[in-house]
Amino acid sequence: MSTQGERLVRGHPPGYTGIGTTFAGQRLVLEPAGLEGVDVAVLGAPFDDGTSNRPGARFGPRAIRAADDDGRSGRPHMGTGLDPLSALTVVDYGDAEVAPGDLPRSHELLARALGEVLDAGAMPFVLGGDHSLALPTLRTLSERFGPDGYAVVHFDTHADTAAELYGVRVSHGTPFRVAVEEGHLLGGNIVQVGLRGTWPGPEEFDWMRAQGFRWHTMDEIGERGLDRVLDDTVAHARGRADRVYLTIDIDVLDPAFAPGTGTPEPGGLTTRELRGALRRVAGELDLCAADVVEVCPPFDPSGITALAAERVVIDVLTGMAARRTGAKLG
Ligand code: MN
Ligand code: MN
Repeated sequence: MSTQGERLVRGHPPGYTGIGTTFAGQRLVLEPAGLEGVDVAVLGAPFDDGTSNRPGARFGPRAIRAADDDGRSGRPHMGTGLDPLSALTVVDYGDAEVAPGDLPRSHELLARALGEVLDAGAMPFVLGGDHSLALPTLRTLSERFGPDGYAVVHFDTHADTAAELYGVRVSHGTPFRVAVEEGHLLGGNIVQVGLRGTWPGPEEFDWMRAQGFRWHTMDEIGERGLDRVLDDTVAHARGRADRVYLTIDIDVLDPAFAPGTGTPEPGGLTTRELRGALRRVAGELDLCAADVVEVCPPFDPSGITALAAERVVIDVLTGMAARRTGAKLG
């Protein structure tokens, strides 16, 4: 929109113009009443007090929104012609409030915003922020649906199941441990994809095994192929609950594709692999919440990581739109 209130140039304004952007140029909603009839509410969670290595994910939501280059012209998927921003009603619900330096308080504030979205019958799609935000999300879903009322599909280099990290109980390395121990997550209801590197170690794997966690390492993906791993991932999640929380740590990507993250680990998925995987997962499972986390703009000089995260959101929406319309993703 020009400051003069009248467009003098044909078409919608380029994505880089204006004083800022909502996610994909979608309608901004800042009050719960505005969520009526909404399918997906994008919600920023700009905190990184739970980070154990390189900080900066608090700048992630802005960078992901700014990565949009063509929002209002729609986003038809090249293979299907499906435009998720037409098939679904998507709004930007702004950012959750944060209390810098007080991670538990920021978690409470995010949980409140998540509750508002779920109360309205919409699906929250959170832009992180560090992965500790999974903890208030798991707590909120458990309170809504019961701990057996949802499953989790988790893309990540790391299992995020430490009992503590540097003596700290709640951080981005612990949410799936804390949620199980609080009774908000059933270990048998989570499946993790993309694990590699040297962490978690034997203690975490022993604990995960005892809780019934499922996981698929990058080595397994290399040996069996991503499609077969996704067959198992989808079947397991579907067999455990009717609805699924999809949580995507951008560090599941190889740092060649996503250098802008706090704890990079070489040897990950390509962006093309992840995008296809997410269209499929979102197309085959009924999502109740989603997030993309750990985009760290200070380490992302070219913006490639924020762009990957923005496209990841679009791909999940494309899968959801295909599921709704019955279109084949191919
Ligand atoms: Mn990670
Ligand atoms: Mn993580």
